[in-house]
Amino acid sequence: MNTKKTENIIIIGGGLSGLTLAYLLSKKNYSAIVLEASSRLGGRIQTVKGNLETPMELGATWFSDMHPNLLSLIKELGLQKYPQFSKGKSFFQTKSFEPPQEFFVSESESPSYRLVGGTQQLIDTLAQHIPKENIKLNTRVAAIKELESELLIETSQGEKLKASKVILCLPPQLTSSQINFLPALPESIATILPTVQTWMLGSIKFVLEYKNPFWREKGYSGMLYSHAGIVTEMYDHTNFQENKFGFTGFLNGSASSYSQEVRKEFALRQLAELFGKEILNPISYTDKIWTDEFISSGNQLVQRPHQNNGHILLQESYMNNKLFFSGTETATQFGGYMEGAVISAINVAEKF
Ligand SMILES: Cc1cc2nc3c(=O)[nH]c(=O)nc-3n(C[C@H](O)[C@H](O)[C@H](O)COP(=O)(O)OP(=O)(O)OC[C@H]3O[C@@H](n4cnc5c(N)ncnc54)[C@H](O)[C@@H]3O)c2cc1C
Repeated sequence: MNTKKTENIIIIGGGLSGLTLAYLLSKKNYSAIVLEASSRLGGRIQTVKGNLETPMELGATWFSDMHPNLLSLIKELGLQKYPQFSKGKSFFQTKSFEPPQEFFVSESESPSYRLVGGTQQLIDTLAQHIPKENIKLNTRVAAIKELESELLIETSQGEKLKASKVILCLPPQLTSSQINFLPALPESIATILPTVQTWMLGSIKFVLEYKNPFWREKGYSGMLYSHAGIVTEMYDHTNFQENKFGFTGFLNGSASSYSQEVRKEFALRQLAELFGKEILNPISYTDKIWTDEFISSGNQLVQRPHQNNGHILLQESYMNNKLFFSGTETATQFGGYMEGAVISAINVAEKF
């Protein structure tokens, strides 16, 4: 018989980890409520549509055969992957005053994949498996208080909810800066939380949309690595059907001090020298600086990449086995990546 189990579970954070966890728990007949601070699901996964409806990634984009847990989730959800386009001439700019080096990417046995329709498909499909009324957007958790056999969750708008188990599916740094625990968490874990590096925090991703893949026609892969301009990395961003075209890539960190208009101008100027004048008239340009309150805790310390990801204290439960940590930064393997987000959800789901 398919009877719902009575445990009253609340998941904090509606990114890949939180939604995968809600999905895995629903397969075990648990019903979990997802509380998400922002007005959208997905967290560090965000696919936007260009003016020509091209799906373009402002967040997570690529995965590979090294990511078995993500791959099997994609398969189980009936989604499809396809290899990143890399055929043709690629560029490497070492210095602004030296001509760019050209290189060709060998037909790799293990390519980078993209998701057909955009990475957001993963989020949207997971959400379809969770009852609508169990997902609460615009709900920022501000406090967690331990009652005798339950936890009391308070949102920033003063709403109160009770749960028998709570799983934190947000970057540990945010847990530390945004959520007040009563009684306080043990000092050992409380001092670790702010030191866990949040992957891609502060990065700047841009997307460009074009009517035609003029670079492919000229024999270019669209791939660029540069130490010489505002664009540091770039890749072809054509969709699976090959009828919508564009690029995606990263801008250097100092670009955050310019307006979006200036970032666009500098990026196009750099690209025009390599790909020709056609690049100067995109159908759309969008970029995103990943420093908003849904990823950043404010006063940022410089941290090593993946510092304290998968820390042993993040694997334990707290508040008398009622509070758990998930989210990619808690994963002992592939912390920071989508694979890590899925691994962390699987690990917590196994405890139920
Ligand atoms: C620009 C960029 C590029 C990337 N590229 C790749 C890539 O190519 N391949 C790859 O594998 N990974 C990539 N990543 C990393 C990948 O996006 C993450 O590993 C993954 O999405 C993390 O999922 P998560 O659920 O652990 O965390 P998140 O996606 O950060 O989800 C946490 C959620 O918690 C919410 N939240 C925060 N505070 C609160 C609160 N107080 N109350 C309630 N909710 C709250 C947030 O709004 C957010 O939705 C990239 C990330 C970025 C930013």
